[in-house]
Amino acid sequence: MTIFSKIISREIPADIVYEDEHCLAFRDVNAQAPLHVLVIPKRVIPSLVEVDSSDATLLGHLLVTASQLAPKLGYANGFRTVINCGSDGGQTVNHLHVHLLAGRHLGWPPG
Ligand code: AMP
Repeated sequence: MTIFSKIISREIPADIVYEDEHCLAFRDVNAQAPLHVLVIPKRVIPSLVEVDSSDATLLGHLLVTASQLAPKLGYANGFRTVINCGSDGGQTVNHLHVHLLAGRHLGWPPG
């Protein structure tokens, strides 16, 4: 079980900004931009490499949720979504999550 499961079950607190039947969105504790939210599925999927076609609707739902959250939270000038996968991809929590970043110009390429 990861820390994100404990956030879903409310065993540990988080600054939750959105919730529905399938996903939860909360602010990252180590924000890398004025808006840094993590959108996670309630069903545990360890990483993006472990999905298959049966997960397509859920994955789409995470992106649609992220897209709607940015303007809803006051960031209408654009945003970035990131899914880190595996150790080279920089993933540190093994519960799939979409980073939603906004509120400053985000450089490219990423570090
Ligand atoms: P990643 O490195 O892509 O796996 O992202 C994991 C993210 O989870 C990091 O940006 C962390 O800052 C964030 N994080 C870890 N623990 C918590 C927590 N308890 N509440 C909110 N965000 C967290």
